[in-house]
Amino acid sequence: MEYADRIKALPPYLFAELDKRKQQLKQKGLDLIDLSIGDPDLETPQPIVEKMYEELQNPINHHYPDYEGLFEFREAVALWYERRFGVSLDPSREVMALIGSKEGIAHFPLAFVNPGDYVLVPDPGYPVYRASTILAGGIPYFMPLKEERAFLPDLRDIPSEIAKRSKLMFLNYPNNPTGATATRKFFREVVAFAEDYDLIVAHDLAYSELYFDEPPTSFLAVEGAKEIGIEFHSLSKTFRMTGWRIGFAVGNAHLIQGLGKVKTNVDSGVFCAIQRTAIWALQGNVDEEVRKWQMILKKRRDLMANGLKELGFSPFVPQATFYLWLKVPEGYTSVSFADKLLEVGIVVTPGSGFGQNGEGYIRMALTVSEDRLKEALNRLKNLRF
Ligand SMILES: *Cc1c(COP(=O)(O)O)cnc(C)c1O
Repeated sequence: MEYADRIKALPPYLFAELDKRKQQLKQKGLDLIDLSIGDPDLETPQPIVEKMYEELQNPINHHYPDYEGLFEFREAVALWYERRFGVSLDPSREVMALIGSKEGIAHFPLAFVNPGDYVLVPDPGYPVYRASTILAGGIPYFMPLKEERAFLPDLRDIPSEIAKRSKLMFLNYPNNPTGATATRKFFREVVAFAEDYDLIVAHDLAYSELYFDEPPTSFLAVEGAKEIGIEFHSLSKTFRMTGWRIGFAVGNAHLIQGLGKVKTNVDSGVFCAIQRTAIWALQGNVDEEVRKWQMILKKRRDLMANGLKELGFSPFVPQATFYLWLKVPEGYTSVSFADKLLEVGIVVTPGSGFGQNGEGYIRMALTVSEDRLKEALNRLKNLRF
């Protein structure tokens, strides 16, 4: 039975070999320090779990949810956006619940991209932007994220022929995998570019709360952004709720409505008990937990960034996210260096898995304890490159 062309067009899974070696080493009993996992290592904060117990007991939560999310959920999102970013949203038209932001990102191009349309995709980038473009029949055009530009794409490098045939641009700041953050100035350039070429901008803000000093801005906080923009957000990273599957889309009402048209035909919303728990979290009831989480990540970042510098590496020191993006030593590729680290039981993600421009880098996810990071640095010290 033949796969459909759209499935065949998806890029192959690059890490199959590495995964196999990881499994082999694990079976041999090697103590692996796994820095390849983009999922918080600490559990969901206990108060959130307790709130969920309570909501589970309430039969009002046991039925099909509304497609677009409970009105109270959309209201809580709007209030949180106002409080956190100074962005006003109309909960009835400009907010929609998602089964995790990945779900929304994956479905969005189906609503707006026709076969043959170009979609501007950051490279390196979260693989879903490219995959969802391909599944909609669109053609990804990769915008290189270069270290010398602090991993912001240079919009002037996009040929105007391509820009004219593009429907949509994906962006993601704070960025996975590089850890870069965007400036308002850059977002203003994006709005102007999108106006010039009649583009939709889809911004992924999943890491907005995992910051260490300056809180990152919302794309929608820039003037004109709501005319052309949609922003995807998630409770996964902020509240360590990756397994719960809840996120939301906010922004231009027409864009939200288009996404909603796809979703009403493929899913039936988010479990109401989870939505009501999420409301409670967004109302600020666990802000103290979020602050502690930020402090833990900041300490890990400092420990690892400083340790790597002492060993002669020059990591990009992130202002947000739990990733360290690291240039590999001379003579290595992303994959061969990841392989080398595997010899001493350190698992990282080769940058090339995030796109061609990720070649020459690896990504370390700081989703292990400080003790384990110290152990990783020790092992690195004894490795000869
Ligand atoms: C983790 C992550 C998400 C969040 O996905 P959910 O589906 O909300 O869990 C979205 N975008 C990026 C870039 C991520 O790394």
